[in-house]
Amino acid sequence: MAELEEVLPALAEEMAARTDRGEVADYIPQLRKIDPDRFGIAVALNDGRVITAGDADEAFSIQSISKMFTLTLALGKVGDALWRRVGREPSGNPFNSIVQLEHELGIPRNPFINAGAIVVTDVLLAGHQPREALGEILRFIQFLADDDGIAIDREVAASERATGYRNFALANYMRAFGNLQHEPELALGVYFHHCAIAMSCRQLALSAQFLAHEGRNPATGHSVVSAERARRILALMLTCGHYDGSGDFAFRVGIPGKSGVGGGIIGIVPGVASIAVWSPGLNENGNSRLGSIALEKLTKAMNWSVFAP
Ligand code: GLU
Repeated sequence: MAELEEVLPALAEEMAARTDRGEVADYIPQLRKIDPDRFGIAVALNDGRVITAGDADEAFSIQSISKMFTLTLALGKVGDALWRRVGREPSGNPFNSIVQLEHELGIPRNPFINAGAIVVTDVLLAGHQPREALGEILRFIQFLADDDGIAIDREVAASERATGYRNFALANYMRAFGNLQHEPELALGVYFHHCAIAMSCRQLALSAQFLAHEGRNPATGHSVVSAERARRILALMLTCGHYDGSGDFAFRVGIPGKSGVGGGIIGIVPGVASIAVWSPGLNENGNSRLGSIALEKLTKAMNWSVFAP
């Protein structure tokens, strides 16, 4: 098997030389300012090693990768009752689509499309002021990464709030069906802020390690979720983690993953490693273009797949 210490720098070099980076997300004005040439990758192995290349220590906007953490927290809070308000099926639609909500009476198809993640955020708000709910999410991520330096980029959150008309439409629509317990303004305030959390590839890979290790963080020894819950979160990532590009990601990369429009992707090789990659340019489905390509090459080089022993 290839050595990661050689594969990662070669991959970073290869990606830096490519010109087909895709377009940086521009519907959140603050994200337009990101340098499209950035590329970072970090692999946290279950044996405790963390191997990185490129801009792996530069923080970027995690955006929808935060949905993986909020789902984990919400399941901890309400357990399987969550599934009365959110489905578990791939959407086959873009991340901000509203069409299926009408047919399914305000129940989003899964927790990773925007509508589903807004309901999950609404669950986390129960019994809390928005500030407390947000603090809980941030502290959970800091705990997972064992890093108190992780913070929210408030300019990104304000920028998204100022232009988030579609998310307001989704939230209002679900509220009309009775599937949002708080005013859209409150749920979205928390949602925009958790999407605006900034993390580096290294921090992200460490924070997701519990998913590669049957629910337990091998670095800190902390048990985060049960093995069964970790497997179920991974199943949702595999089927729904890349919006309407989820099938193609599973086909090409072969591991569960979750992307964000900031250009980050987290991928999990169960029993082996968690991988974070960042390249801000996106493909037609809103997933990091070079990030997906790099993950495809990495899993191939290392012979990593959930479909192989
Ligand atoms: N905050 C973004 C939105 O709601 C997240 C989208 C994404 O990363 O896919 O539009």
